[in-house]
Amino acid sequence: MRTDVLGVAFDNVTIDEAVDRALALLEEEGPHLVVTPNPEIVQRAEKDPEFAGILAQADLVLPDGVGVIYAAKILGRPLRARVPGIDFASALMVRAAGLGKRLYLLGAAPGVAEQAAVNLRAACPGLVVCGAHDGYFKEDGPVIENIRAAQADIVFVCLGAPKQEKWIAANGEAAGARLYVGLGGSLDVFAGRVERAPEGFQRLGLEWLYRLMKEPSRAGRMAKLPLFLVSAAGARLRGK
Ligand code: UDP
Repeated sequence: MRTDVLGVAFDNVTIDEAVDRALALLEEEGPHLVVTPNPEIVQRAEKDPEFAGILAQADLVLPDGVGVIYAAKILGRPLRARVPGIDFASALMVRAAGLGKRLYLLGAAPGVAEQAAVNLRAACPGLVVCGAHDGYFKEDGPVIENIRAAQADIVFVCLGAPKQEKWIAANGEAAGARLYVGLGGSLDVFAGRVERAPEGFQRLGLEWLYRLMKEPSRAGRMAKLPLFLVSAAGARLRGK
């Protein structure tokens, strides 16, 4: 049973359980999709039925961001844990490395995925990064062919939402991997281009505040968060 938060149904899992499930999905023929919606993505899905349909069909829907956790609490159906996409990806890589699984990195500006590959190989001994491609391509065909030729098991698709989820839904089967994870700006972090918030901020669920301090231009996007919580309160009052 999934937990509905304003139209998106989340898996009520801890990060370890999420990784266990992802590894189980790797044992089955693909393509499988893992998504990590934050409040902005939930709000986007409300206005985009195609995107909402893809999220509903995903194999794992992980609550990325404290806003989803607060909203679930307000709705009276709390989720057990916040599972930030980047933490899930990091834990998955460690386990996948031990199993010899092959990881492909897709997205971000030219050079970023390659740099992320170098850093991840160094940080995660045994990890096979079998290929990388930037996220500013015009034609899907060569990218699909590249992933297929690399014999990727897992692909981190980092094109921003909803582009990445729609790309996976359209091309995941042709590219031949078993597990696709939509991870937004994570390659910029893995490549060392964007800093993650210090641990204290992460622990307090204030990563968004740190990001806002670093990139004030995100204020417009983040101002939607209080509205998201108000929608949750409204839905609760209407008995949804
Ligand atoms: N991006 C991309 N191709 C595009 C548009 C965006 O590869 O056509 C990349 C962009 O360079 C960035 C990521 O997608 O690395 C989106 O980052 P953002 O922080 O906006 O995503 P979020 O995590 O908020 O979904």
